[in-house]
Amino acid sequence: MYICYSKLKNINMSNKNKNKEEGKVIKQNWLKKPWIDTKYTNCNRKKFLLIFPPLYFSQLPQLGIHSLIGQLRGNGYDTSFINLNQVYKNSNQVFRNTEYPYKDLTYDAICKYIFSEKNYYLNFIKKIVCSIKKQQYDYIGISIGLDSQLIAGLTLAATIKKETKAHINIGGNYITRISDNIMKYPDFFDKYTHSISYGEGEISIIELAKYIENKIPIKQVPNLIYKKENKIIKNKMAKPVKLSEIKIPDFSDIDFSKSNKQLPLTVNRGCYWGKCSFCDMSYSLPFSVKKIDKVIEEIKIYKEKYNISNFYIVDESVVPEYLDKLCDAIIENNLNINISISMRFERISKTLLEKAYKAGIKNIAWGLESANPRILNLINKGINIQDIEKIIKYSAQAKIKNIIYVIFNFPTETYQEAMDTIIFLKKIYKYLFYISYGKFGLGRYSQIALNPQKYNIELVQEQKDFSHALGFKVLGEYKSKEEQDKIYKEIQKIQLLINENNKKYFMKST
Ligand code: SF4
Repeated sequence: MYICYSKLKNINMSNKNKNKEEGKVIKQNWLKKPWIDTKYTNCNRKKFLLIFPPLYFSQLPQLGIHSLIGQLRGNGYDTSFINLNQVYKNSNQVFRNTEYPYKDLTYDAICKYIFSEKNYYLNFIKKIVCSIKKQQYDYIGISIGLDSQLIAGLTLAATIKKETKAHINIGGNYITRISDNIMKYPDFFDKYTHSISYGEGEISIIELAKYIENKIPIKQVPNLIYKKENKIIKNKMAKPVKLSEIKIPDFSDIDFSKSNKQLPLTVNRGCYWGKCSFCDMSYSLPFSVKKIDKVIEEIKIYKEKYNISNFYIVDESVVPEYLDKLCDAIIENNLNINISISMRFERISKTLLEKAYKAGIKNIAWGLESANPRILNLINKGINIQDIEKIIKYSAQAKIKNIIYVIFNFPTETYQEAMDTIIFLKKIYKYLFYISYGKFGLGRYSQIALNPQKYNIELVQEQKDFSHALGFKVLGEYKSKEEQDKIYKEIQKIQLLINENNKKYFMKST
């Protein structure tokens, strides 16, 4: 069964520019529309529903949820999908960050907000749940991949749990990161959900589906946390997913005539380097790659089924030798596509970058973080400045757009060390398309958080159960607020130089 949210989209898209008064009418009317298409319903089988809650800002479809839809449908399960994020946008709601004070991520504060009248999503979600209730689903999975989805996701879970008999399951990257903390609160499983899924979802969702069909006991479902006889049970983790053996993601619910024509792709999972001290991106994900012929087959399917030629490889970092073979295969198969990827500054030649451009790699995001050797060493980045300079130049000469990631305020980074990065960026700005910069944040599972003394920091904030970032204080010398502001001003100036340069090169050629 498929959700016809395109009907809903039509209503709201066409009314996008109307005045506030009309907006109110739309808000009331859209819920009366038959947005669940029941023609696919098969009454004899268990019914599954996956929901992607607001707020998610990217134009790129979220890969994780579409991969789960692919596994369920590919294994013959009657699966519906509601992109509630899209429904929320289309319903003329003000698409902004929730009013929830995100600074307080304690369990008590979150529960208090979710069950209060102040809850910004409450009315919207109550109406949605009225429609969902009529469909009598047996399983409802809610994916919370980002902190910005937490309040809507939990409000949805709590409301559905009260109103339906479905097995509620909450999963997603964000929930995985805080799942051990949630276990400290047994009433979470009374208020919001029957189970939590942690780690990779593709295998465990099929086992969970078998449990819903009464084919296996719940204790056999891997990656699952649930409450039994007042105890919280954490089932074992499944063996790592073999990316080449699972079903391909299913994007058939997306109306591509009205959305960004780009799809996410994955060629590996985890990070092949996995040693940067600040990073916990690959938390709980062992590194694995997809066979190249599978990637090619997947691209061909997407091209034919959805008429899509633009792809974004969303993996942390593509292995250079793998990229080489992938480019050969793309060229051989004459796929005629555009791809964006992320890479590390290592083992990359001029020839490889020229081949990459020929194969359709038009954008590469590179992780520089810092150009100061002491900081790079503390990060354990495993790259060196001479290589970076060469690679970024070759890449620009091959006509690839280079996006570079920089982190300021790494613990103990001095003003002078931050200025080393600025000086380096000024030196290479002609080869850059964009600088993405941000302030250091302490990931809960990063090496730094696990060994604070080694990095000269002290954890100052009480750990907030629903936060995957931690508060910290740097011991010893550090930058003043004025010095930090100067650094940001400098980087903005460099971006202006880059913009001018882009007008000369890329704007002409695109
Ligand atoms: S920062 Fe990037 S390269 Fe470093 S471990 Fe994390 S994902 Fe890998």
